[in-house]
Amino acid sequence: MLTQSLIQTLALGLGFDACGTARACRLDEDALFMDGWVGSGNAGEMTYLERNRSLRYDIRELVPGAKTVVVCLLSYAKSGKDYHRTVKSLLYHLQASIEQHLTEQGEDIAGLVNRDCQHIFCDSAPVLERRWAVKAGLGFIGRNHQLINPHLGSLVHPGELVLNIDVQGCDEAEILNTNCGDCRRCIDACPGKALGLAEWDARRCIAYETHYCLVCQKCCPYNETLF
Ligand code: SF4
Ligand code: SF4
Repeated sequence: MLTQSLIQTLALGLGFDACGTARACRLDEDALFMDGWVGSGNAGEMTYLERNRSLRYDIRELVPGAKTVVVCLLSYAKSGKDYHRTVKSLLYHLQASIEQHLTEQGEDIAGLVNRDCQHIFCDSAPVLERRWAVKAGLGFIGRNHQLINPHLGSLVHPGELVLNIDVQGCDEAEILNTNCGDCRRCIDACPGKALGLAEWDARRCIAYETHYCLVCQKCCPYNETLF
């Protein structure tokens, strides 16, 4: 039997900064929100958000047979020039470590992952990564719309390893009791006035235009030690 705590130990041993697991399911609330948000034109030219919706909302459609989503976080400081490559490489190592452990226990590893399709992701597929990180107990989504881990801040890259087996303890992740509280620093500091609106409008975000703006992360108290 594979446990969440074993996966966490293996992931941290490989260099990840945090790891959690969540049971694969359809993300009904996110589906409802995103359909409305994209439908209102808030996504601007990010037309890819209109495609692959059923895969994005239900990871079991993206990875047939999926039972557990393992989410790992790697800090920007460790991710090198190509974070996709670094995170995915570590996730493949994690899969190999899990397989080795199961083999040593005399367990069959044939059904561990769906070998007929991609099952390791990092910012490269229709996966609602921040939501999966929240469900795995790794943080909350702040008023700056970033995933914030209370210990690591928001300068982290999430990556996912989708398993086709159940993991003991994967339902024990608690949605963290931490949140933005009364803070509004990012809302006040945002040069595009993109934050704090009734609906997030990506077209107002400078990062959407130029791909570089860290203002709402630099001013966040959770990132205090990182800048
Ligand atoms: S990235 Fe910059 S423009 Fe976009 S929401 Fe954050 S502070 Fe505002
Ligand atoms: S700056 Fe404050 S309001 Fe904005 S995400 Fe950070 S904690 Fe939340």
